[in-house]
Amino acid sequence: MLEDTKAFLSSPLGSFINNQWVLRDDAAISEIIDPCTTETIASVQRGTEADLNAAVDAANEAFPAWSALSADERAGHLHRLADALEANFDTIAEIETLDVGKTITNTKGFDIPFGVDCLRYFADLSKTLPTDTELDIKDMEARIHRVPYGVCGFIFPWNFPYNLLLWGIVPALAAGNTVVIKPAELTPLSTLFFAKLAEAAELPAGVLNVVTGSGSVIGNAMCNHPKMKRVSFTGSSEVGKQIGATCGGNLIPCKLELGGKGAAVVFEDADLDLAAEQLSAAITFNTGQVCCTATRWIVHESVADAFTQKVTDLLKAVKIGHGLQEDTGMGPMASEKQRQTVVDYLQKGQAQGATALLAGECLRPEGCEKGYFMSPSLLTGDIDNICFKEEIFGPSAYLTTFTDEADAMKQVHSIEYGLANSVFTQDMERANRVANNMAAGNNWINAHNVFAYGLPYGGVNLSGLGGGVNSPETYYDYLRPQTVARPL
Ligand code: NAD
Repeated sequence: MLEDTKAFLSSPLGSFINNQWVLRDDAAISEIIDPCTTETIASVQRGTEADLNAAVDAANEAFPAWSALSADERAGHLHRLADALEANFDTIAEIETLDVGKTITNTKGFDIPFGVDCLRYFADLSKTLPTDTELDIKDMEARIHRVPYGVCGFIFPWNFPYNLLLWGIVPALAAGNTVVIKPAELTPLSTLFFAKLAEAAELPAGVLNVVTGSGSVIGNAMCNHPKMKRVSFTGSSEVGKQIGATCGGNLIPCKLELGGKGAAVVFEDADLDLAAEQLSAAITFNTGQVCCTATRWIVHESVADAFTQKVTDLLKAVKIGHGLQEDTGMGPMASEKQRQTVVDYLQKGQAQGATALLAGECLRPEGCEKGYFMSPSLLTGDIDNICFKEEIFGPSAYLTTFTDEADAMKQVHSIEYGLANSVFTQDMERANRVANNMAAGNNWINAHNVFAYGLPYGGVNLSGLGGGVNSPETYYDYLRPQTVARPL
């Protein structure tokens, strides 16, 4: 373990409010577990509702000065934060790997650099995008003028704590809002490390606040706070509905980025090697704990056997091990609870008649005596099966076959999730037609899990409401439009 990681993990950790660390002797504690070893790696003090209130007050007080800065000045702060992340690249990658169990290859190759890019993208975008739009109306001088909302609250899940943090808060900060963040109880470490970097980079006090603790206390208080001007929630569809209802009751605008159960349609003319490589990678990336991954593999009946052979060969070859080992292809599940959820789904799916083409098993990879490890699984059966219909959130997929395009589309649309789907075919006319017709926020061609700044990413139906991330639209989401008009 790096010296900086050790120093951070052994330091007192709790909420970060108005550039102060709030630490108390009598605070309730969340023990943070390394899922590769099941050892406690840090203790985080849980915040209280009073802390949430203090954080909102601090953010509210910081708002006038932060929003009055020029876009260039705010962009300067965001670039300094990006510099700080780059200077601490190895440490934050290691912290994220230890907290979530994800591989160091992924945190160094994807999570951390993509987060740095997020800061730079929105910093630069905010300097170029206009906040005012002139309106062409007869006998009137009129325009839309956009202003930041004020205090924005963010509630995050445990699977991509660092990436989702940045995807969420950066556009809000760039637009001139101040933020209060509630990380997941299970994986708060990279968020707290980021707060330390913000403190060291002299982000003005109160602009960024983190309150640790449970959803039922901190998250709920956030959605009921009278000074909260906007809420963004990323997490399960079930909790998203509750948060949408609470925010709606308080007339707080709310963005919901929710769960998924992505479909991949593999046509008979698809490059089967590519499809097998993309889809095996989709369910092993972050040990399948990915909202937008493809877990319903809808394959043309004429190529199903060949595809199954290729994809199971790839899945069997994935090296499972400790996230910090450079050659590990897949780490453990993030928690024993999540591993048990996957085990339960596999049992229920088979009890309902599914067949295991590849059985998922709890295991101990060489050199790992403990840890929440599990091998990938692939079930097959009919589309009424629980494992076809519900989000499992693990390294598990469900294969069905189809006869023609209409049959494939019927299967895609047999459930209500609408986050991310993909289509594999060499016929680009068909690829674009199918992609256009799939009801999801993101539809990918001959690939799965495609992300870029400038490419909006969000969900529809059970997968989300009101926004998305990573694009100019996300920046405008954090600016409230108002009109200014003068009759001539
Ligand atoms: P979750 O819904 O259980 O919890 C998410 C967050 O909400 C946590 O911080 C939790 O403490 C908080 N929370 C729980 N109950 C609350 C309440 N009543 N009021 C306010 N806050 C509350 O989700 P999870 O298990 O942490 O994450 C997994 C889920 O997140 C999956 O469904 C996954 O698909 C989804 N997800 C979606 C996206 C996306 O971009 N669409 C990204 C990542 C994860």
